[in-house]
Amino acid sequence: MPFERNLNSLIACEECGLVVNLPIIHHGHKAVCPRCKHTLTKVSKDQYRTMIAYVIACLIMLVLSLCFPFMSFNAQGLSQEIKLLHAAQMLTTHQNTLLGLLLFTTVIVLPAIYITTLGYLYAKAGKASTRELDGNGIRHCIMLCRVLFYIQPWLMVDVFLVGVLVSLIKIASLAEVSMGSSFWTFCVFALLVVKCLSMVDKFWLWEQFVQNKTVIGVSAGDCHQTGNHQACHTCHQINPSSTDQDTYCLRCHNKLHAYNPSDNLQKSWALLIASIIFYIPANLYPMMYTVSLGKSEGSTIMEGVTLLWQLGSYPVSMVIFIASIVIPMAKMLTLTWLYSQAKKSQTEKSQAQKSEPESLNESLSKLKIYRITEFIGRWSMIDIFVVAILVALVQLQNVMAIYPGPAALSFAAVVILTMLSAMTFDSRLLWPVSSRRMPN
Ligand SMILES: [Zn+2]
Ligand SMILES: [Zn+2]
Repeated sequence: MPFERNLNSLIACEECGLVVNLPIIHHGHKAVCPRCKHTLTKVSKDQYRTMIAYVIACLIMLVLSLCFPFMSFNAQGLSQEIKLLHAAQMLTTHQNTLLGLLLFTTVIVLPAIYITTLGYLYAKAGKASTRELDGNGIRHCIMLCRVLFYIQPWLMVDVFLVGVLVSLIKIASLAEVSMGSSFWTFCVFALLVVKCLSMVDKFWLWEQFVQNKTVIGVSAGDCHQTGNHQACHTCHQINPSSTDQDTYCLRCHNKLHAYNPSDNLQKSWALLIASIIFYIPANLYPMMYTVSLGKSEGSTIMEGVTLLWQLGSYPVSMVIFIASIVIPMAKMLTLTWLYSQAKKSQTEKSQAQKSEPESLNESLSKLKIYRITEFIGRWSMIDIFVVAILVALVQLQNVMAIYPGPAALSFAAVVILTMLSAMTFDSRLLWPVSSRRMPN
């Protein structure tokens, strides 16, 4: 089915705020923002059927991943076998309900909801575009679309998979570990989820249920600083500007947030500072306790890294070091720098001294840094998942057992808070006040 749309389809770029007039896009092509090069929408061939096929395969793999043994562990004649659900359960029994819940939610529940919703929406999208859906059906789909995009950043199947591999190498020196059949289906599941995520096109999906509405007075080349419109964060519909506190999007009926630099920066700073506070106990307290022959020994993140290094597992030691120490630190420092830059670009009077292309280039490189930071942030979860798997797997009473330490929860809080902070931050703040209009 061709991608049918109004000829005059204005869309506001979510990254830089520029209003762009989308041309008709053919299969296999994509539209990018002329200012920041962000992909606005892409059209692939036979979107519905391909997606539905992937979704079905995904769900089958998920069910198989839950039914059979995931990993098994053998030491000194004792053995232990776990299923995927068992890992979350084990954390709950060791007074770490929150960690267990985190694992259960980000690795099983949210991906399952996401994939099912995705399949349902793509199946409905075909009907909606031929107008087979009534008003109620459309409202239902709009609500599900909103749910879909709220869940999206919190899917961690790929991070969990890397966590499994790391924990595998971590205990390989202590005991014999073997993978169950569910492990292999989980690998396929993780790959399929990543594939589905890369195929979802927000703009296309919204367009199938409710077409982009034209707002009079807004034209291509305007941006968030022009002050004549408000762009919806959820569906990218351009809405007329309003001073009213409670305004809702014309298309998805979500509450609109006016462009408010100081308010946005305050929230982002608050979340970032909270994460920095949690980072201190995360490093000082033990991440996990290893009980071996009745002797209990705690190890912090850094001790874990050095121990692995001494044992000769250099690559794994490096992975943990990068994921647990370099990434969170780099993320916190980069966000601090970006937020102070954003503040500067909103107030700086010297803006006029810089030429237009110069300040645009500067904003573009800041935006690139922001995107990279946002992308790599979730990988810090690796160490949390490693602890979760080890706790679930290594439970051989007095011979050998691993328990989560207090740092695990603090560290999870660091990762979640930095992710929230980066998500809250409005990247449009990185654009200088002076660049008001762009040639179309
Ligand atoms: Zn843009
Ligand atoms: Zn909307």
